[in-house]
Amino acid sequence: MTLKALWVAGIGMALAVTGWTQTAPDPQLMQEINRIAAIDDHTHVPKVVAPGEKDDDYDALPCAPLEPTADPTMVRPDNPLFLQAWKALYGYKYNDKTPDHLRELRATRERVQREQGEHFPAWVLDKLNIRTMLANRIAMGPGLAPPRFLWVPYDDALLVPLNNQPLASENPDRKFFFSREEMLLQRYLKESGLNAVPATLNDYVARVVEPTLERQKKAGAVAIKFEAAYLRTLNFGEPNRAQAEQAYAHYAAGGTPAKGEYLALQDVLFREIARAAGRLGLAVHIHTGAGCGGYFDIAGSNPELLDSVLDDPSLRQTKFVLLHGGSGPYSKVTAFLLGKPNVYTDFSEQDWMLSPRALSVVIRDWLEWYPEKVMFGTDLYPGNSPEYDWDSIGYMIASTGRQALGLALTGMMQDGEISRARAVELAHMVLFDNAAKLYGLKH
Ligand SMILES: [Zn+2]
Repeated sequence: MTLKALWVAGIGMALAVTGWTQTAPDPQLMQEINRIAAIDDHTHVPKVVAPGEKDDDYDALPCAPLEPTADPTMVRPDNPLFLQAWKALYGYKYNDKTPDHLRELRATRERVQREQGEHFPAWVLDKLNIRTMLANRIAMGPGLAPPRFLWVPYDDALLVPLNNQPLASENPDRKFFFSREEMLLQRYLKESGLNAVPATLNDYVARVVEPTLERQKKAGAVAIKFEAAYLRTLNFGEPNRAQAEQAYAHYAAGGTPAKGEYLALQDVLFREIARAAGRLGLAVHIHTGAGCGGYFDIAGSNPELLDSVLDDPSLRQTKFVLLHGGSGPYSKVTAFLLGKPNVYTDFSEQDWMLSPRALSVVIRDWLEWYPEKVMFGTDLYPGNSPEYDWDSIGYMIASTGRQALGLALTGMMQDGEISRARAVELAHMVLFDNAAKLYGLKH
């Protein structure tokens, strides 16, 4: 063999070993993946508003009012998937973004919105081939009716019944976030027929926590959501009921608890809420991994901090969904946690933070561990202009997610880990079956 032939053979071997030869997903498999009408496990889909009206309910803790931070490249306007989105949604005919063409796009979108009225969100779902979308919102609204849209309300507000100053003063973002939670708690108190928190912890649980979850269930919720990682570390420690009762009784009517006392109370409250959710058949969604804002505490959002909750025998009836799969830094931790019988995950958010290639590595890892626990999700959210709003953003994210799933399954097939038939089966599980089973939805 000549030196050159040796070199070429060497490269060939390296490619075979690392899988670099796989540059695109298997076309037949991709076709099947695109055909599956999906369940989107997590979104902040906006309601249909009247002219001049604002939707303030799409997130308990919206990121928009925070000090600005840079968007990751995937969600910047130069992602070519946005052009594709406009073509698929509104028949956009161009490969450029001249002001004239964008004006035409806006006009077309406005016309579709006008024609579709309250049906507009469902019209978008059809374009994205999403059959059912979980809507993580403070409240539902026009255009977001079941069975296409299922409610996931927020319950962090139930964790903050005392004076929040010691937690809220940690940084400017938390100050804003706690003001939102306090507003939401007022709403929950009012709906529970109270105008202040009761004097004892037992009464608070019986008269506020449990009735709030029961109302949410009755209103159609399939899960409840915690964004606790925006407010504190996810390390909900071993509960000490007596201590919590004492701290609650001491500060319910006024005064400022020390941070440690407050966190210890939350350790108990979090479990009370999760237990009530399990009893009512509501899954518990928890934000894990990267979050918005320049002060976000990434160390505090590691899903492994939830160990004592996930390992609590009294919470085994509660199904926990680690939203975003510990997005970015904690995907590996998530893979292991899926081994617990009541733990699930989705790759929402990761599909607008990572490229299809990078996300495929995460998905493949999870599928090689516990494929029946992995779900598709987008985390789509309202944008700040008509051409980059939730519909186009959702298209961009859903395409990225499906492409990544295709890449992951193609790699597994090419490496002889799974047959083509199993790859198709896994695609159906991730895009639909796993979520349908978890939430008890009909096929
Ligand atoms: Zn979200």
